[in-house]
Parts: sequence; structure tokens; C-alpha cells
Amino acid sequence: AKRDGKNTWRGFRAPLRDRASRQMLLESALHRALARDELSLHYQPQFALGSQQLLGFEALLRWHSEDLGTVSPVEFIPVAESCGLIAMIGDWVLQEALRQLSRWQAAGFAPVPVAVNLSAAQFLQSDLAERIARALDAHAVDAALLELELTESVAMQRPEEALEQLAALHALGIRVSIDDFGTGYSSLSYLKRFRLDRLKIDRSFVADIVEDHEDRAIVEAVIRMAGALGLKTLAEGLETPEQLAWLTAQGCDAAQGYLLGRPAPAGEATAWLRAQAVA
Ligand code: C2E
Ligand code: CA
Ligand code: CA
Ligand code: CA
Repeated sequence: AKRDGKNTWRGFRAPLRDRASRQMLLESALHRALARDELSLHYQPQFALGSQQLLGFEALLRWHSEDLGTVSPVEFIPVAESCGLIAMIGDWVLQEALRQLSRWQAAGFAPVPVAVNLSAAQFLQSDLAERIARALDAHAVDAALLELELTESVAMQRPEEALEQLAALHALGIRVSIDDFGTGYSSLSYLKRFRLDRLKIDRSFVADIVEDHEDRAIVEAVIRMAGALGLKTLAEGLETPEQLAWLTAQGCDAAQGYLLGRPAPAGEATAWLRAQAVA
């Protein structure tokens, strides 16, 4: 085969133009994604570290585009945010997660909470709590089964508004977690005033706890601080038995990661629920 010199160069010569056109492709395909039914949710299990009990699932958005193939949320969520589609997509995610919860309820499984990721645009909607209350009602799902995850930067963007929003969500009985904890700049005084349920310790710290004594120190400090504030902790991105042993010894409450279970379609998540029921 002949080497395509032009292709080899493209990445160096015109990275900006290529990025802009990729962005436009994504945007127009994303506009059609909902109508074409190209979105789905995967569910990743979360386990208690002591008892190894299934605590719940995180819902993670998947997009298989007819035109572009499978696209990672790391790539398309920022596009959806910048082109204003995130509210519609976020709404679909919430509805779909609640639909799944009500299917599990109808099938007679002991219910476990499902966590949904919220982007900044969604979190700052003034009627968010009302919309969620209506959606819970429509699907006949108990508020305690819904958890929202927001990153530190989303929560700290407008902390006074966040304070009100979190109080309204808390009043509904919904749980709220801070996602990717440790990567942003939370103010401790706000952390104390926000109505939160848990801190999800970012994968980047968990990845290095066995080799890196600084990351170990950070994770220890986060676990102790969370305890002092009455918050639960969940370690993200758990991949090895060594990490599992260390986090359990430190008193981290829960974990999620490839070692325990990868994000999977609802059918596989149902199998986890079933295994839990007979265990
Ligand atoms: P996130 O909320 O921090 O989600 C965790 C990510 O880590 C997921 O990537 C998950 O598949 C991955 N992960 C889980 N366990 C492991 C592990 O043991 N090792 C490694 N290396 N990775 C692990 P995913 O599904 O690609 O999602 C990436 C990000 O996209 C999410 O990060 C979240 O910020 C965003 N996202 C996903 N779904 C939604 C959604 O419905 N709405 C919004 N606003 N954002 C979403
Ligand atoms: Ca998350
Ligand atoms: Ca995370
Ligand atoms: Ca490190």
C-alpha cells in the first residue's frame, strides 16, 4: 500500500481547522441524535467497601451516531454544552434513568439509587427542583432513589445560587454528590453549608495511591475531612486489589471502578441487582 503523505501531515498542518470541522460535524449529528434514538445509558455499579454490598449505579451517557460511530461523552458533552443542546440531552438522561428505576421497581427488585451527572447549564436552571419533582412523580419513583452528581467547578461557579439550589434539591429528598473531588477548588466553608451527601474522590488520586505518598496523603485527608463534615466518600476509578485494600483500611465508604464492574447496559445492571438479591 502507498503511504498517504497528505494524511500524515493533516494533523500537524491544520489542527485548528480540523478541530473546528469536527466540532461542526458533532454538532449537527448531535442535533439529530435524540430523534434518531441514538443515545443510551450505561450503568456502573457502586459498592460498599466493607460489606461489598451493591449501593447503587451511576448512569453514564452513550452515543452511537449513525454518521460518526461511537463518540465518547468526554468529546460530545462539551459540544452539547457549547451549542445549547445540553438541557435537552440532560433532560433525556434524567427521564431515561427514572424510566429504568421504575422498570426495576415494577420487576420487584429491592431498589438502589441511580446517580445522574448534571452539567452547569442544568444545575443553574431556576426551575430544576420543580422539574425533577414532576419527573419523579410522572415515573412514580421515590426521590431517595435519585442522586445527582455535580463537579466542584459547577457547584462553585455561583456558590450563593448553588446554596439555594442544593437546599431545594435536599428538601425534595434527592441525594447530591460532588464529582471528581480534589480536582477543583472547593471552598471548605461552602462545602460545609452545601447540602451534600457524599464526595466522589477523583480517579486521578485513586490511580496513584499505591505508589505516590502525596496522593495517599490527599486521599486520607479527604476521607477524614468528609467524616468530620458528615459526608460519605466514594473512590472513583478503582482498578486494583491493592487500591481496594488500602481504601478499605482508610475507612473510605464506597468505590466504583473497573475492578468491581464496568459501565454496562441496563440488562447487565439488572443481573447485578439479581445477584445482590440472592446473595
Ligand atoms: P465521570 O462522571 O467522572 O464518570 C466516570 C468516568 O470514568 C466514566 O467515563 C467511566 O466509564 C469511567 N470509569 C469508571 N471506572 C473506571 C476505572 O476503573 N478506570 C478508568 N480509567 N475509568 C473508569 P465515561 O462514561 O466516558 O464518561 C466521561 C465523563 O462524561 C463523565 O465523567 C462525565 O463527566 C461525563 N458524562 C457522562 N455521562 C453524562 C451525562 O449523562 N451528563 C453529563 N452532563 N455528563 C456526562
Ligand atoms: Ca460522575
Ligand atoms: Ca467522576
Ligand atoms: Ca500523582
